[in-house]
Amino acid sequence: MGAALIAPGILHRFSISSSATGFRRSVLVHVYADKADVVRSAQNYGMAVDSAGAITNSFGYRHPAPEHMRHMAVIRLAESQLDSNTLAHEVTHAALHIYFADCCKWESRARAHIDGANEELAYLVGDLTGSLHFELRKRGYFISSDSY
Ligand SMILES: [Zn+2]
Repeated sequence: MGAALIAPGILHRFSISSSATGFRRSVLVHVYADKADVVRSAQNYGMAVDSAGAITNSFGYRHPAPEHMRHMAVIRLAESQLDSNTLAHEVTHAALHIYFADCCKWESRARAHIDGANEELAYLVGDLTGSLHFELRKRGYFISSDSY
């Protein structure tokens, strides 16, 4: 067995979910020790990446029957890059795939514009979320995970 076939060490594995589109959709999350493990894991999935602190593989919108999918995406995070900017960036990718599958559908012309790989939108949401988090924390606010 070659080195590329050895699964990189996953420190944590869990799923997150939302029913915002009217369907319960879940996303699998893997946390790795470092960026090299994230890259190796993505390469094992056939992604051509050289370096990354976080990566999202999304499957939902490409699947003919997304309702049968257990997870619509896998978010891979490096422990060394767990910040609100990165989390928001990767969640945006996963959310775009779910949004497309549930709200646009494959036949939609929006497919030309919303394919989940929309880096500009992911960076916009990540950068703005990271900056907002930073400014609020600087002013003494604690940012909870939700407001329920
Ligand atoms: Zn991205």
